[in-house]
This record gives sequence, structure tokens and C-alpha cells, in this order.
Amino acid sequence: MLDKISKSTELKPWRGNIPIYHRYTLGVAGERFFKALRDHKQILASACPNCRQRFIPPKIYCEACFEETRDWSTVEGPGYIKTFTVLHRSLEEEPLERPVVVALIAWSGVRGGLLHRLGEVDPSGVKTGLEVEPQWAEVRTGSMDDIQFFRPPLNS
Ligand SMILES: [Zn+2]
Repeated sequence: MLDKISKSTELKPWRGNIPIYHRYTLGVAGERFFKALRDHKQILASACPNCRQRFIPPKIYCEACFEETRDWSTVEGPGYIKTFTVLHRSLEEEPLERPVVVALIAWSGVRGGLLHRLGEVDPSGVKTGLEVEPQWAEVRTGSMDDIQFFRPPLNS
């Protein structure tokens, strides 16, 4: 137990449970963001009144000038894929029946983005810059799963 391990290949598993519990609070900006998802199918960004930068997920203070953000608005139009990865295995290392594409979705003129799954898309056709829009869940609870996934706009 107290041996100094200098190679990661010498690591040994220690089975058991760690009794840790946590409660995650959304915070002021997060609560407003998730309520808009749930109640209005809207993706909100906040904006700094000083430097005009917009943020998604919304922040209550501007990262650049520490001003309180006051102007909240929905993001306009489709987002686009800033980066993505294709998963072929689950977190348990089991092969997936179908590959899952996870992407960072960004909006023009908005700093940041949302990580989410892509759907109704051929993984081999996914590329950065591809426009996507949310597919809203029928039942929304105020979580990221209120968006089932993002997909290319239906009219494209
Ligand atoms: Zn600012």
C-alpha cells in the first residue's frame, strides 16, 4: 500500500465504494438558462453591456471586464459544429451498436458553446462548420436532455 509506484503499469486496483455525495446547484445564470430550455425551447446567451461579448452558457459576469451581464437573448439561427468526436465505445468500453457523435456547438458572435450529441446525421458526413439546430424533447425537465440532440436543419 505504501510502495512508491513509479510506473503506471504497476498500479493495482482497489475495489470498494467512496461515500461521497454532492449537490450541484445551477446558479443564477444556469437556472435562467435551463428554465428557458424547459419552458420556452430557447437557448439563452448573456451579453456584457460594456464590451458586448455574448456568452453561452450564459454567465452573470463578463470574463473580460467583470461587468454584470444584463442583456439576455436567445441565440439566432442554427449553431455550427466547432469541433466533434465520434464515439465507438461506451464509457464501460463496450462497443456501441451505432457510433455516437458528440460535438461542441457554437453560434456566430457568441463566446463558448454547448457540448451535445448529434442525431439524424451520418457520422461520416459530420464536419466542422456544419450547421445544426436543436431537436427538442417532448418532455422537458430543465436539463441538457431537454434538447434530445442537434441535427442539420430540416430545410437544408
Ligand atoms: Zn465585457
